[in-house]
Order: sequence, then C-alpha cells, then structure tokens
Amino acid sequence: MYTQLPFDELKVDPTQKKRVAYFYDSDVGNYAYGAGHPMKPHRIRMAHSLIMNYGLYKKMEIYRAKPATKQEMCQFHTDEYIDFLSRVTPDNLDMFTKEQIKFNVGDDCPVFDGLFEYCGISGGGSMEGAARLNRGKCDIAINYAGGLHHAKKSEASGFCYLNDIVLGIIELLRYHARVLYIDIDVHHGDGVEEAFYTTDRVMTCSFHKYGEFFPGTGELRDIGVGKGKHHAVNVPLRDGIDDATYKSIFEPVITKIMEWYQPSAIVLQCGGDSLSGDRLGCFNLSMQGHANCINFVKSFNVPMMVVGGGGYTMRNVARTWSFEAGLLNNIKLPQELPYNDYYEYYGPDYKLDVRPSNMYNANLPEFLNKILTNIISNLENTKHAPSVQMNEVPRDAEDLGDVEEDTTEALDTKGGSQQARDEIIQPDNEYYDEDDKDKEERNINEESKPTDTDGDVKMDENSEKPVVTEEEMKEINELNSEN
Ligand SMILES: [Zn+2]
Repeated sequence: MYTQLPFDELKVDPTQKKRVAYFYDSDVGNYAYGAGHPMKPHRIRMAHSLIMNYGLYKKMEIYRAKPATKQEMCQFHTDEYIDFLSRVTPDNLDMFTKEQIKFNVGDDCPVFDGLFEYCGISGGGSMEGAARLNRGKCDIAINYAGGLHHAKKSEASGFCYLNDIVLGIIELLRYHARVLYIDIDVHHGDGVEEAFYTTDRVMTCSFHKYGEFFPGTGELRDIGVGKGKHHAVNVPLRDGIDDATYKSIFEPVITKIMEWYQPSAIVLQCGGDSLSGDRLGCFNLSMQGHANCINFVKSFNVPMMVVGGGGYTMRNVARTWSFEAGLLNNIKLPQELPYNDYYEYYGPDYKLDVRPSNMYNANLPEFLNKILTNIISNLENTKHAPSVQMNEVPRDAEDLGDVEEDTTEALDTKGGSQQARDEIIQPDNEYYDEDDKDKEERNINEESKPTDTDGDVKMDENSEKPVVTEEEMKEINELNSEN
C-alpha cells in the first residue's frame, strides 16, 4: 500500500486564479509571552514584512479583522474561562490563584500584557476568514495569527488560549455540510479533534510526531466516537521524516478523504514546527516539503482557510509562510529575499529556503505501510456515511454590495476607525469589486447580542439557506459541553 513517491519540484498554474483574502493585524507582533518563551508572535510580523516586500499585496486583498468578542469566543469556550482571560493581567495575577490552576495558565501559557487582545486578533481573523468563505467572497482566506490548535473549551494548553480554529469551523458549519480540518503542525491537533470528536460534520486529520512528545494524544486508533466514529484521522509519525516520505503518506491520505468524505470547505493548519531545524520540533521537512502540503490541498479547488500554528525558529517560519502565501496566489516566489524590515534575521544567505538536515528518518516503510493501510481501511467507513446529505451546499445569492455599507462612516463603525486603521491595498487585477471591502461579515447579529456573557448564541436570521439549523448548531454546542 505504501509507496515512496519521488519529491518533484512544486508546480503552480498561473492561469488558475484564486481570490485570496489575507488577514493581518499589525498589533500582533507586539505581544510577548515573556523572556525565553519559544512562542514569539513577532514571527507573524516577520512573515508579513516578507509577504509585503515580495509584492503579494498586489495579488490578494488584505484585511484587518475586527477582534473576536467575548460573545463570539463563548461559542466554543466557557463563559467563566473567557471571563478569566479578559480580566487577568500580570499585575492582578495574585487575585486568581485558584483560576490559574483551573484554567492551566502559568509556565507554558503565561499571563502577559494584552493577552486578551492577542486572543481577539487570532480569533477575529479566523472567524472573519470563515465568514468571507461562507459568502463566496474569496476562495482562500489566510490568518497566520491563528492556528492555535491546543486550546480547550475551558483550558489553555501548549501556548494556546483561544481556539480560533474551532471558532472558524463553527462559522463554516453554518453554510457547509462537511468541513475537513488538516493539521501539519509537528504536534497533535488535540483541541480541534476533541471539539468535533463526536460529530461527522467535521473530519479532523492530524499528522504529527507521536511518542514521548507533547501533548501525548493522537494515536492511530483514535478515530472518533458515536456519530464521529471514523471522522478523526491520526497519522502518528516518528522523528526525522523527510519531504518525500511526508508526501508519500500525506497525499494518499488526503486523496482518500477528499474522495470519500467530500468536504465543501477545508481548514489547513500550517504549523511551522514540522520544519527542519525547528527549536521544538523533530521532523526534517524543507520549506518545499512543507509547502507541498499546502499546494496539494489547494489543488482540490475547495474553499479553504489557511491558518498558522506552531513554529519556533522564527526566520524559517516567516520564510515558509511567505512562500506558501505565494503558492496560494499561484506564484513561486524567487529565492532572493527582498529587502524587508527584518532582513538581518535571514543571514548569512538571505535566501527564501529552509533546507533539510542529514538527520536519521525513523519512519521506515513497514511502519508507514501499517499506518496507511489502517487509515485507508477506516476511511472506507466514511464513504457516503455522513448524516448530512451529500448534495450540493446551497450558496447565498451573489452579494452585489451595498453602497450604504461602503461609506467611510459605515466602515468606521466596525470597532473603531476601521478604514483609518486598515491598510487596504487595491489588488492589481480586475477580479474584485472595488467597493467590496471589509463589511460586516460574521453571522452573529451585533445588535442582538446580550451585553452579559450568558453564552446564549444568537443565530443570524438574515442568512439565506444556512445548512445548519438552529437545532444542529445546538447539538454541536452540546457536544462541546459534554466534558
Ligand atoms: Zn506545534
């Protein structure tokens, strides 16, 4: 079953236009987990500077999302956890001794200045990206401030506090019958898997290092329960996996999932800690090997959200995410790095490349064969199995824009001076409606929101033909509250 595929040069088709919406908030690079902590939000700013200086702003639309509100966060997380995140600061930490233990903040997940705002940025980007995909306003949404896959319903974990991915998927489920989540971070995507473990509306598929490694979950035999049985896929890998080997397991697994599960939207977590030379990781992927996954998933032409994740050797994360943003725009960025704000980080070669090392690949063909055979045979059970019919997902009528909404005043109502804060750069192709800027995108009705945090999620009554009924959404929310 397992065949080692050759690793060919990545190919892009420049004629295949994709509408890409890229979310970035310039504040994100200012947050710091603390001295010596491996997670550095600054890497997102580094990636952004490269992306801009390569000129990708000419190809995609750039947005600053409105930060996720407490109300929005509570669609997945508990009120008391979100309330705690919104109130705790390094200065009042003493008042929250009990909560620190309860919500697992401390060493790995420290309380730092602006923690809640940081969570809001990460969550806002993924929710707004999902909303734009829902409305057919883009084919691909990118949020590198997102991808925080370890966060739990009422617990921080593995440098993650708010699970922006779960929030984004919940948004997608309003319009999409089946959503596929793919995770190529070196760590198991446990928070997302857990959130959707008992439903067949979401299939999660995580490729990760397994065995004496954080978070310790993600065994081959963990396949979901109840309705969700066979809808969690785990690919446990060993140290030193290289480009050709990763491709040889990634492509057949994803191909089978696409064939049998037929998702209408995909969320791809692009954790950069699976790259060679990562400070915490133990895989041996080059930039090309990592990017091949993004290029491969994109080739299915299904609406896709791309989020960040781990990645602890900043210069390599920034390089790889920039290269991948290029691929998502059908461009292979040239090797020579353009001058950018953080040019000195990329010495001595100043090249857009992450090379593999000569480390030993502990993933032997017999081992991979066993994994692949097992996964493929499990996946056969998903063939035409989901409880939601396999027919086409209805889309909203084309949004021709509303002149009212496009006035400066209207734009400014979106959380402060949206237009003033945004650096919306006009793309160089005629693909977009000039007025099609960042409007109210999410499905939660702002006006109808209760001001307290009773967690009573209001459904958008204006959305046409949503796939998820209120009943189903309740069911999904209940699944999340079972533990
Ligand atoms: Zn990770």
